[in-house]
Amino acid sequence: MPRYDLHCHSTHSDGLLPPAAVVARAAARGVDVLALTDHDEVSGLAEARIAAAAARITLVTGTELSVTWEGLTVHVVGLGIDPSSPALALGLETIRSGRTLRARRIADALAEAGIRGAYEGALKFVTSERLVSRTHFARFLVEAGYAGDVKDVFNRYLVRGKPGYVAHAWAALSEAVGWINGAGGQAVLAHPGRYPVGRSGMRRLLAEFRAAGGQAIEVLSPSHTPAERAEFAGHARVFGLLASGGSDFHGPGESWMDLGGLPELPAGVVPVWNDW
Ligand code: AMP
Ligand code: MN
Ligand code: MN
Ligand code: MN
Repeated sequence: MPRYDLHCHSTHSDGLLPPAAVVARAAARGVDVLALTDHDEVSGLAEARIAAAAARITLVTGTELSVTWEGLTVHVVGLGIDPSSPALALGLETIRSGRTLRARRIADALAEAGIRGAYEGALKFVTSERLVSRTHFARFLVEAGYAGDVKDVFNRYLVRGKPGYVAHAWAALSEAVGWINGAGGQAVLAHPGRYPVGRSGMRRLLAEFRAAGGQAIEVLSPSHTPAERAEFAGHARVFGLLASGGSDFHGPGESWMDLGGLPELPAGVVPVWNDW
């Protein structure tokens, strides 16, 4: 059985390693099929493709889109997308363009809490001038001594109800799924266990996602407990969705899980790679 890891990040979004280093690390850790899924971005895929050929592993073209659904941020991974799709490129550019103004507002909100220079501080950690994320603010806050590590930052800052939080409207769910499907890709609801929606909210989200053309959900994610793995395997069956999984690796020492660290999919689900 090949080993699949269908969710990870590079310096083209908020990861710590360049695409070629992500691919080499995945290969060294026994991954046979890797999807690079940078946030709102496909620019790392060309480098990743070359590295995958050299390492003799299979690269799946991917991206992870930021979506706002019922006021919550939800992530949708696209797998097997054509990175040169004009409609997808335009959609990604639209999402990314909102990030710069949002970053200014995050810095203003942090300044109100007494933390100065956060915009410039975050920019020091930005590795692609096309994309600034909360992760870059988190790294600045750790460096400046406001938190012990990146996870600690997200317990105390940058999230709803905490200093540095700003509301932001990303793409609509149906738009994001449409861009992915239009680029020939499969749309995968990322880490569903992370959304605080309750039981009926989750059923609504899955039904809307399916109706919009979504194909799969992540059953395997470091965000999921074993119980959630079983729960989302059940949801996949009931909603007729395929099952995916990825480490969501961001960098050595900064991630819940390293590349290739996932267990096998539970029995009774159809893998997203079934027809590949
Ligand atoms: P953004 O897309 O700018 O809102 O940033 C979201 C990113 O922040 C996610 O992709 C993660 O990399 C990171 N993040 C969010 N919540 C946490 C958390 N609790 N612990 C660690 N990283 C987080
Ligand atoms: Mn991230
Ligand atoms: Mn995500
Ligand atoms: Mn991710």
